[in-house]
Amino acid sequence: MTDTHPDLLDVLSARLGSQHVIRDPTAMEAYLVEERKLYRGTALAVVRPGSTEEVAFVVRECAEAGIAVVPQGGNTGLVGGGVPHKGIVLSLARLDRIREVDAFNATITVEAGCILKAVQDEAEKADCLFPLSLASEGSCRIGGNIATNAGGVNVLRYGNTRDLVLGLEVVLADGRIWNGLKGLRKDNMGYDLKNLFIGSEGTLGVITAAVLRLFPRPKSRTVAFIGCASPHAALDLFDTFRRRTGDQLTAFEFMPRFALEIVLRHAAGAVPPLSGEHEAYALIELSSPDPEIDLRERAEAVLGEALEAGTVEDAVIAASEAQGDALWHLRESLSHVQRLEGGSIKHDVAVPVSRVADFIVTATQACEQALPGVRVCAFGHFGDGNIHFNLSQPVAMEKAAFLNQWERFNRIVHDIVHGLNGSISAEHGVGLIKRDELVLYKDPVALDLMRTLKGALDPHNILNPGKVLALEADLPSALPAGS
Ligand code: FAD
Ligand code: ZN
Repeated sequence: MTDTHPDLLDVLSARLGSQHVIRDPTAMEAYLVEERKLYRGTALAVVRPGSTEEVAFVVRECAEAGIAVVPQGGNTGLVGGGVPHKGIVLSLARLDRIREVDAFNATITVEAGCILKAVQDEAEKADCLFPLSLASEGSCRIGGNIATNAGGVNVLRYGNTRDLVLGLEVVLADGRIWNGLKGLRKDNMGYDLKNLFIGSEGTLGVITAAVLRLFPRPKSRTVAFIGCASPHAALDLFDTFRRRTGDQLTAFEFMPRFALEIVLRHAAGAVPPLSGEHEAYALIELSSPDPEIDLRERAEAVLGEALEAGTVEDAVIAASEAQGDALWHLRESLSHVQRLEGGSIKHDVAVPVSRVADFIVTATQACEQALPGVRVCAFGHFGDGNIHFNLSQPVAMEKAAFLNQWERFNRIVHDIVHGLNGSISAEHGVGLIKRDELVLYKDPVALDLMRTLKGALDPHNILNPGKVLALEADLPSALPAGS
């Protein structure tokens, strides 16, 4: 690409080393394309600073030159948030140091470029748990997790990323460094600034480090796979488990019959967990830091009652760690195997937990009515009210013709979510893919406050312009789609 800002790039190369200011198109490629290949961007360069001070230098120089900065972690985001359309990509990958583990304070201080799995492993060395867990944990980075307020399978027990962050270090749009690296459970010294940056998707500041909460490491767990007659029966079961097992209930995941069918069709090593077929399946996990506790016995007692009450049709409790992993494998294979069933139209939504079964039933009916033959794959974090409401194309339909209906299905599904007082963006963020939807469903006063905050923290719209909020001078519509 033509180098329209040679001075800036030379200045950055002089400070960072030219090997950390990547201009070669082939070397830049991986940073320009999003995980699902829905978007492809362009950038002047990929810049890889190695310290907070270098990040501050890069942002300051870019701000002075009026060049946009798109922060990037592991580039596993699913909403186009890290795809550049102008300016530079600011990769945090080299900021990958664990700064401190304080087991007594139950905190770990890490730099933004640490891979999530590395943070989990470091916590484990101190006999602690860092509970954030996503299928992308081997490649996503903690700064990206914080910037998207990532969710995952342990939110039910431990909360979202937001609930796991005690302090942040952030480079602001003018290059100043805010040091908010405090590991405090109580801090009421004015406004809670860290929560502004958590979930802001790189539009308000560049996160360079964080203090994260640790928990006692579970020493016992039990996993069960349960067949129910309907999503409403699964909701009754969830309520029973929550009341009876409290904090021990670490995960309650949902899969409809179609989801299990495609997992068994495509996933390597997947075996039917139950002898019969059921409309709805729940995968539950109980865990405890107490190695003596018999969680299997607890699960058996609750499931026995639920069987008697007719809430449950059939269930299996893993007899070993390996069997527990095999049951999880069924759930974790889902995103991958859905790809093998043709085109998917995806919605990452949340409703109050009490309405989650109503949502699944209503939205499934509405979509099946709108397009006969569409195969609804509504799965996910049932216990958080967060459903990945995905649609697989009808078997006989052209993939492209199906994907052309994305907008139409957005309206159907998002209107139902909105009617249930839910959210059209549960855990993956807004990025580019939901930016224009946000305007339809977010309270207008809240949107106005968001614009005010963006204007106050990034008055020249340098940081990740065009993402989350469309402002004047941003790109008017979505980036061109990739392959
Ligand atoms: P990136 O993709 O690099 O960036 C994401 C956004 O954050 C962009 O807007 C970017 O500009 C911004 N950003 C990145 N780093 C910084 C920083 N240091 N400072 C400021 N802004 C920054 N997500 C879930 O929530 N739950 C899941 O269960 C889940 N499962 C997934 C499974 C798979 C197989 C895949 C591919 C993705 C999954 N995701 C999930 C989505 C994704 O992994 C998360 O959104 C993750 O938090 C992104 O981290 P990242 O480092 O890859 O961020
Ligand atoms: Zn998820």
